[in-house]
Amino acid sequence: MHEIMPRNKIDLPRFTCKIAPNITLIMANSTHQFQTEVRQLLDIVIHAFYSDREVFVRELVSNASDALEKLRLKQLTGTAIANPEQDLRITITADEENHTLTIADSGIGMTREEVVEYLGTIAHSGTKKFLEAMKETQSGPQDLIGQFGVGFYSAFMAADEVVVTTRSWQPEAQAVVWTSDGQDGYTLEDAPADTPRGTSILIKLKEDAHNFAQINTLRYIVGKYSNFVGFPIDCNGEHINTVQAIWMKNKKDVTNEEYEEFYKFIGHTDAAPLTWMHFSADAPIVLNSVLFVPQESPEALGFGRCEPNVSLYCHKVLIDSKPENLLPEWLRFLTGVVDSEDLPLNISREMLQDNSLLRRISGIITKRFIKHLETLAKDDADKYEKFWLQYSRFIKEGIVTSWEHKDALSKLLRFESTFTEPGKLTSFADYISRMKENQKDIYVLFGASRAQLEHSPYLDALKARGFEVCFFTDGGDQFVVDSLHKVEDKEVKSIDRANLELPPLECQPDRPGLDDAQAEKLTGWVSATFADAFSKVSVSDRVSSAPAIALQGEKDVSPEVRAYLKAMGQPVPENHPEIAFNPHSPIVQKLAELQAEDEELATLLAGQLVNTALLRAGMLEDPAKLADNSQALLEKLLNK
Ligand code: ADP
Ligand code: MG
Repeated sequence: MHEIMPRNKIDLPRFTCKIAPNITLIMANSTHQFQTEVRQLLDIVIHAFYSDREVFVRELVSNASDALEKLRLKQLTGTAIANPEQDLRITITADEENHTLTIADSGIGMTREEVVEYLGTIAHSGTKKFLEAMKETQSGPQDLIGQFGVGFYSAFMAADEVVVTTRSWQPEAQAVVWTSDGQDGYTLEDAPADTPRGTSILIKLKEDAHNFAQINTLRYIVGKYSNFVGFPIDCNGEHINTVQAIWMKNKKDVTNEEYEEFYKFIGHTDAAPLTWMHFSADAPIVLNSVLFVPQESPEALGFGRCEPNVSLYCHKVLIDSKPENLLPEWLRFLTGVVDSEDLPLNISREMLQDNSLLRRISGIITKRFIKHLETLAKDDADKYEKFWLQYSRFIKEGIVTSWEHKDALSKLLRFESTFTEPGKLTSFADYISRMKENQKDIYVLFGASRAQLEHSPYLDALKARGFEVCFFTDGGDQFVVDSLHKVEDKEVKSIDRANLELPPLECQPDRPGLDDAQAEKLTGWVSATFADAFSKVSVSDRVSSAPAIALQGEKDVSPEVRAYLKAMGQPVPENHPEIAFNPHSPIVQKLAELQAEDEELATLLAGQLVNTALLRAGMLEDPAKLADNSQALLEKLLNK
């Protein structure tokens, strides 16, 4: 007993009290409440009907493996650890008679304070995400338990009581026993002095979960992914796994099932991956990597930015399970492993932040992954489309944020166009293959939906020439296309711009139009009437389905960028759009006559045409202008 007191003082300074020795007794055996969120989580976990509750074994083995990885790194980097003679292994004990299951490891263990934090709060990532997701989704907890894995607490799916005995790697730490029935809280006691380093989790199985103490059941569950654990696993004295790091193997020697099981293990999920890439290189850097794309975007349900989930290894030793700068931000949806023997083992988090080798690794892998997607698009268009529906925003983010890869990424873009059926997607490569002989540029149009864009008068001039126009309908697409500028040497042009250059029409419409003198008179009068509002007023074949269109002036800021500036509270520069009149429109022809006969009515009619054109273009700053003009025009017409 004399040894325990000073250790307690080291472990729990905030509880050490000089007043009475019995304080130590309270410390040694104390009752604690779970954090509210943990109680909520446990309530869900315990009461959910969950047919695949065997995932709790995966979660506990995964925690054991994490703890061992962390210890191995300490060992290899020369840190002093408790009980260095202990083997690094996972020991599973199934006791059918007493209906218990124990999963023990000789990993880093936990101090008393760590136990309080890690097993009493939701300080760690997986569980927090689960709770957030529960708030957002209509689906039942079982789907989400499968999707996220609720980590340690999933033990309570099968347990009446869980007893965790743990000794930290820190040589002076006191071993502790944590016991809970998963209801309100837990108790903490000191563990005997001879407790080995690491963590042992004893599960007293629920009545309906006694099968988890059967050696065959366990062998089956653990067998599914035990080969992906980097340490030996014993089950009732029998050694049950061959340690292998599948990312170090030759692609040809790994089966699809093995990839899928590996993904399920590292991704804490029951769903198969959508696609994966296994990549190895010997030069210029030794690299081995397996990267998986989850079936659904981790940001799909709207719960914010996901965290990167690609671990960094150096020759099978885990250096960091979630390094922040390993891959570019837009690849944060990936799950997997990157291993490079060229990295120093004792690389610190700070060094990882700014390491030129890591930057090169990132560049190589990103390039290969983009290539992987390109090949997928070629070989399995349906699967690529599935990918696109889930991950288009990430690819677009990549185009906007990475100069280096944006040309390659532009090949991955998919969109609808004037030549596709609604709902069918096309690519720039296909677009280019369909370009007309006299067509120089790639034409695009932005808007809220295909239905809206199909009726846009901007299409008139392109349709008349038989040119295809790409539809971009996601918020932010303007930025994406702006940052592309060129695709395969072809400029990408927004067809709502005034400076769009088009080849002359081969055949002129046979409807009568304004002659040059009429056109000049009309445009001169409109310019004068609306003073400074427009940078240019013209008569043009850019429009045939409406009387007039508003075109973005050369120096104008696009409606999307304007909306963005406004939202950011930044000053929005004044626009000076151009107005183009359709010389074949009967309304425009009437306007040209009216202007000499009844200037007041002509002004109202012109106001109606230009404001409607601005509205269609998303450039009408104040809709009241159009409403007031309509009202005045109607009054004038009715009083006539
Ligand atoms: P996660 O693994 O996502 O962090 P868990 O709920 O599985 O979440 O585990 C919570 C935390 O408890 C872990 O991050 C770890 O710090 C600690 N922990 C759980 N099991 C062990 C173990 N066997 N050895 C050491 N620490 C553990
Ligand atoms: Mg875990």
